[in-house]
Amino acid sequence: MAGPAGWGIAALGDRSGLAYNLPVTESVDVRGRIEKLREQIRYHNRRYHIEDAPEVSDAEYDALVSELESLEAEHPELVTPDSPTQRVGGDPLEGFEPIRHAVPMLSLANARKTGDLLEWDARVRRLLGEDEEPRYVTELKIDGLAVSLRYEDGRLVRGATRGNGTVGEDVSAQLRTIRSVPDRLDDGPPAVLEPRGEAYITLAEFEKLNRELEAEGKKTFANPRNLAAGSIRQLDPKVTARRPLTILLYGVGEGGEVFESHSGMLAALKGYGLRVNPYTVHDSIESVVAECERWAKERESVGYQIDGVVVKVDSREQQLALGSVAKSPRWAIAYKFEPLAGRTKLLDIIINVGRTGALTPQAVLEPVNVGGVTISKATLHNEDYVREKGILIGDTVVIERAGDVIPQVVKAVTEDRDGTEREFTMPTHCPVCGEPVSRPEGEAVTRCVNARCPAQALEHIIHWASKSAMDIDGLGEKLATRLFDLGLIKDVADVYRLEAEQLVPLEGFGEKSAENLIRAIEKSKEQPFSRVLYSLGIRHVGAVTAELIASRFSGEELMQGVEVEGLSEIKGVGGVVARAVVEYFALEDNGDLVRRLMETGLDFEKETGRPTEGPFAGKRVVITGTLQKPRSYYVERLEAAGGTFTSSVSKNTDYVLAGEEAGSKLERARELGVPVLDEAGFEELLT
Ligand code: NAD
Repeated sequence: MAGPAGWGIAALGDRSGLAYNLPVTESVDVRGRIEKLREQIRYHNRRYHIEDAPEVSDAEYDALVSELESLEAEHPELVTPDSPTQRVGGDPLEGFEPIRHAVPMLSLANARKTGDLLEWDARVRRLLGEDEEPRYVTELKIDGLAVSLRYEDGRLVRGATRGNGTVGEDVSAQLRTIRSVPDRLDDGPPAVLEPRGEAYITLAEFEKLNRELEAEGKKTFANPRNLAAGSIRQLDPKVTARRPLTILLYGVGEGGEVFESHSGMLAALKGYGLRVNPYTVHDSIESVVAECERWAKERESVGYQIDGVVVKVDSREQQLALGSVAKSPRWAIAYKFEPLAGRTKLLDIIINVGRTGALTPQAVLEPVNVGGVTISKATLHNEDYVREKGILIGDTVVIERAGDVIPQVVKAVTEDRDGTEREFTMPTHCPVCGEPVSRPEGEAVTRCVNARCPAQALEHIIHWASKSAMDIDGLGEKLATRLFDLGLIKDVADVYRLEAEQLVPLEGFGEKSAENLIRAIEKSKEQPFSRVLYSLGIRHVGAVTAELIASRFSGEELMQGVEVEGLSEIKGVGGVVARAVVEYFALEDNGDLVRRLMETGLDFEKETGRPTEGPFAGKRVVITGTLQKPRSYYVERLEAAGGTFTSSVSKNTDYVLAGEEAGSKLERARELGVPVLDEAGFEELLT
């Protein structure tokens, strides 16, 4: 999908020396520019908040917003209530039940420089009057998805997204799958308590999941925030359950009245058994500034994505006195870190061949320092990305560390061109083995399909030894490459033939370290079959799919040849996956490799696990109203029978289990003609 015309010319802001602001001359029609900015911002809001698929980086987006804010500040008569500067987030997504927040979930005003913090402190003091001395609390600003939980009498009854601040989405079933969201609270909380915070994923888990998705040939997530948001806003909570999300709480909606201070509230939340965002209390703005500056330097020591520090007035009484403006409270401000972005020259585009044979264009850059890290390479994802972004070799490009981790080229600075730039073309032959490559129709990825391609063998060894696969401690990329180059290992089966004596003479190895590596290799034999299957690196077979397959077939059975039909009968295994598995085991070379792996004593036995069959296999069921037994009873029975519990009724719903006083969900089921069950009907189907 293309953005609204003209966003490409809008500029990055005036920060970090990478400014190229649109020259706002007298001749520019301010009203027209404001309208255009609003249109662009609304479009990107939709992509980001509703579709979880942003097209531009946050820095680019923020630049549009700050341009609009400054134009609106210069021309207050042009501010309208529907301007994106006056509204929070995005409207709820269809398919989820809307939830109206009793206390709105606001956004935060931003401080971009330490001077902004000093100004904010001065304003707070002015509004509070001379006699009041504010104390401040600082917390890290987590870049995840804002959610609100609701506990009644200490029990979790509901969970919602922020949505547009007034109305969010009912994601109760999804949030219940997060381990750090307790079902019950300890220690006598208020009758109604709505803790609020951020659902997020750690950087390590983000990278791991992206690697798995990549191995399965699926689309990866641009950054941890998208992954968290996309995982929670999944109609099927089972998908959410597979994503290792976690939560940190930093506020309370309804029920917050009882706390006298923000820090007191956080301490109380901790006491109730909730996971609370760490915080520090400060007596002066100078101490706040020091804290913000410290974190700006140490942001990368945190294991999850943060984009700033939030500063809040501690006293609740003072918070009430300060109040809120349209979109944010006056008693809090977010000090935002500089975006990890920079500009440099794109010297060349080279091709990387991955373990699955995927050819990835990689940018070779004139080294540039971005957030303290020197970057000389960045990903360009695939051929289409380069074409859609109109990037030419020789261009000046803007690079960003996406999710603050993986550097990527986000755009070309076309104004800097001098005519010497040239277009990039994807090679027709694999740069490693020289065999022809192929790009199947409808796929974005070009691949080398030669299974004996050395690039794939080495990448396979690296994948095999990695943490999410066989987890061989000590056998990282560097060592694997060395052993591969020395000819000591040519494929993953050779790893199990390595002997300490072969390693000892190598530089950097001693007897002890050689033995440690051999021990780690031996230990990997304890991994269950599903891990082994995942580690084989079969296209489309990620960790979860491998578990599903391993629960139905042993290695021997797969080797003897299974049919596509037999595999695709497994719930969660589609035709594409089934074909990839069948093709894999049909190839003689692969068969040889697996045989040699079997001989080493690795586990190829079938696993027993979660049911993939049962009376409710593949069925989506909504549960509503007051039931005879606790809801968890029905959810457990349903899942044990292979069914999935979903929260809202749609045409994809198979049954609605309705108890007493079932309301809108029952109505919706009737409208759509979805079969309605009572408890007895449900039990009957179970048997
Ligand atoms: P925000 O992210 O700047 O700040 C408000 C939010 O911070 C709160 O709603 C809360 O979710 C979160 N938060 C995290 N830690 C917190 C803490 N300790 N205390 C309180 N709140 C905390 O504002 P926003 O309205 O959520 O969204 C704007 C952000 O989204 C910007 O960073 C912007 O770049 C990004 N965005 C990007 C695009 C794009 O296309 N790339 C589009 C829209 C928005």
